[in-house]
Amino acid sequence: MKGDARTRIVILGGGFGGIYAALRLEKALARGAALEVTLVNRENFFLFTPMLHEVAASDLDMTHIVNPIRALVRRLQASPAVSDAERQSLGINVRDTTPTTAGAPSSRPVVKVDSSQRLRHVIAFADAATPTRTAKPAGVMGAEIWVKIGPTPPVDPSECTFLALDSRTPYTADYAGADGGKTAHYMLRWVSTNGDKGPWSETASATIGA
Ligand SMILES: Cc1cc2nc3c(=O)[nH]c(=O)nc-3n(C[C@H](O)[C@H](O)[C@H](O)COP(=O)(O)OP(=O)(O)OC[C@H]3O[C@@H](n4cnc5c(N)ncnc54)[C@H](O)[C@@H]3O)c2cc1C
Repeated sequence: MKGDARTRIVILGGGFGGIYAALRLEKALARGAALEVTLVNRENFFLFTPMLHEVAASDLDMTHIVNPIRALVRRLQASPAVSDAERQSLGINVRDTTPTTAGAPSSRPVVKVDSSQRLRHVIAFADAATPTRTAKPAGVMGAEIWVKIGPTPPVDPSECTFLALDSRTPYTADYAGADGGKTAHYMLRWVSTNGDKGPWSETASATIGA
């Protein structure tokens, strides 16, 4: 390539000599040396010959003395100078850099409120699909917790006020003395890592212990 001042080095053979030359040159590359190194080898692995006899004697498994040469190509994977087409032709995995987007949660939380303590509700939530486990559904950041305090449960979530976004069950809600004896109605929904909201839970109601 015209104007490309890099020195091109081709190493023939990926045995002891070739591999150690490549490793030394990699260090020089890390220090910014203007090099382009190509290693050519018949096999895609490096064989540690000094232990071959132990394999022959069945003291060692073959896999212990064979190392894939491509483990040495992390530099190729990371280098912006290497195109995905070149990586593919070299048999190196081409990374998918497109971020995967989690869709809106499709399931709803099931809610249990422990009202055994004075002026405190402990709100436990689990996914309706796996109600006995505490794990959130895949791609979910946490549960939005909304509450309405009053004698009647909400007909619509718009009657509730936002209480918290909790990533881990349970959530503890503490109330002021004036709320003692009132009823709190909770509605929850999952929120995905990209902010999409799932369907509302059933309303869970409990009296605030005075
Ligand atoms: C059983 C055994 C035990 C040994 N034990 C010891 C020991 O204990 N200590 C010690 O110091 N030495 C030991 N040696 C010697 C040591 O393995 C060699 O000295 C050393 O491997 C030589 O390194 P090299 O890079 O010159 O060649 P090699 O390590 O032989 O590497 C040559 C590479 O070139 C590749 N190649 C060849 N032709 C082509 C082609 N046409 N196209 C593409 N690729 C090609 C080969 O596939 C190979 O990967 C042992 C050797 C053997 C066989």
